[in-house]
Amino acid sequence: MTDGRALARAYLEQQRLLGGDSVILPEGATPGSRPGSATAPTVSPSRTPGTSPPPPGISFDPAGGDLFTSDPLQQAGSLDAIAALVRGCTKCRLCDGRRNAVPGEGPADARLVVVGEGPGRVEDETGRPFVGPAGELLTKILAAIELPRERVFICNVVKCRPPENRLPQYDEIAACAPYLFRQIELLKPKVVLAMGGTAAQTLLNTKQSIGTLRNQVHRFRGVPVIVTYHPAALLRNPNWKKPTWDDVRIARRLLD
Ligand code: URA
Ligand code: SF4
Repeated sequence: MTDGRALARAYLEQQRLLGGDSVILPEGATPGSRPGSATAPTVSPSRTPGTSPPPPGISFDPAGGDLFTSDPLQQAGSLDAIAALVRGCTKCRLCDGRRNAVPGEGPADARLVVVGEGPGRVEDETGRPFVGPAGELLTKILAAIELPRERVFICNVVKCRPPENRLPQYDEIAACAPYLFRQIELLKPKVVLAMGGTAAQTLLNTKQSIGTLRNQVHRFRGVPVIVTYHPAALLRNPNWKKPTWDDVRIARRLLD
């Protein structure tokens, strides 16, 4: 049975009987044995490329993101749809203390995306990103590279305010980051500016410090990422202003 429709039927029947999402290949069926068959379910296992397909009768997990995906975030086709999911989100404890979730804002065709850490007090009260003191500085920084803030998409790693502005915790970041990743996926910006350790470490999947990460062009899913200090940190430590200007100018050059 190599026919795509038959495979799909068998897959759905298994789902119904077993209640799981693994696939048990019938004898003789080989994944990809009908290249170009649009109706075949994605039965390629997530294994190392270059290894041979599993023998028939072996159970394995289907790759995600296929026809059968039911993750509402992956199906969110617009920034507004993501924002609606964020506003209703209860995936981590930060939902308990929020007044407003802060999904982020800016035009869908923004060429620059700025990523901060998480909403502060004013952001929580208004539902808008970077509108407190750090936000005022960010607006000035953007103006200095001739980017009106209205042309930039501005958002954060976590969308709800951590109590007393503490650092977001690992599990909170893990719960919330998929919203950010999907936003970047939809926006397809020319450059992402990661401001502060939380944004840089989340996007680049590292524990390295800003000092180590800045001054080079990284990538997040193919999009150039520039790392710099967080505007709130600049307010506390003016020594970081000069390196921040340097980083922001690199971002500007990548946009041109
Ligand atoms: N700091 C952030 O990281 N994000 C905001 O939105 C405001 C302050
Ligand atoms: Fe959901 Fe993110 Fe808010 Fe946690 S911080 S409740 S994951 S939107």
